[in-house]
Amino acid sequence: MPSAPVCLRVRWFAAIGLTGALTMSVAACGGMTAGTITIGVKFDQPGLGMKNPDGTMSGFDVDVARYVAQQLGYTAANVVWVEAPSGQREALIRNGQVNYVVATYSITDARKQKVGFAGPYLVAGQSLLVRADQTGITGPQSLQHNKKLCSVAGSTPAQRIKDTYPGVQLQRYDTYSACIEALKNGAIDAVTTDDVILAGYSAQSPGTFKLVGKPFSREEYGIGLKRENLTLRHKIDDAIEKMERDGSWQAAFAKNLGASGYPTPKPPKVNRY
Ligand code: GLU
Repeated sequence: MPSAPVCLRVRWFAAIGLTGALTMSVAACGGMTAGTITIGVKFDQPGLGMKNPDGTMSGFDVDVARYVAQQLGYTAANVVWVEAPSGQREALIRNGQVNYVVATYSITDARKQKVGFAGPYLVAGQSLLVRADQTGITGPQSLQHNKKLCSVAGSTPAQRIKDTYPGVQLQRYDTYSACIEALKNGAIDAVTTDDVILAGYSAQSPGTFKLVGKPFSREEYGIGLKRENLTLRHKIDDAIEKMERDGSWQAAFAKNLGASGYPTPKPPKVNRY
């Protein structure tokens, strides 16, 4: 793991009693402890990455993250979960606060300048969620007429609206769950992000929301990690391929998203760049 050499150095400094150096080296571990693996996921996206009221973690991303960790030699008990909101993913990776991120994280050229990606392990598409009784919104074009749209800072859907539909009143929140609350109470008229995420929220509140229009982008979800760590990237690619081959991918999708009505997609081909 990327933290291992740094953390080994900690032990060496500790052994010779250099307490000043010890403090510095612990900081260089980025909050990660030897023997555990630290993974960034969403905490508020049902079906994908959820921290449940009892403290347990669930979702398709969580299951992918766990499977990969197991392939890397870590048990479920040795996984440390860190919340990775959309706008903080690159920083969490670059600052060494997580070993990798599995958080509905689209592979893009701009992000590839900053971080590396294994995968993809799932393909989704940008869509719109509205209240069930809404009839005036049928697709991104219909948002131009004084409708308030919510998305999340640092996400590809927010960027795409800004670039392609500059006339739309876009509000950028920190999380999609905050957008969903605002949609429920009428503060905004629609939420945009990937269809699979919207399907997860919709399933959580039956009869309250509906997805509208056709998906208008291709979002290939990757596992984000340090750009220079090619060894880890290749190991994660191997793990994703194994998960897709041995049926665990299909089982995880059915378990987490089967009830959402989102059609089960084909597992994508891992793209080793
Ligand atoms: N897949 C998109 C992205 O990576 C939207 C979902 C998200 O914000 O997590 O930005």
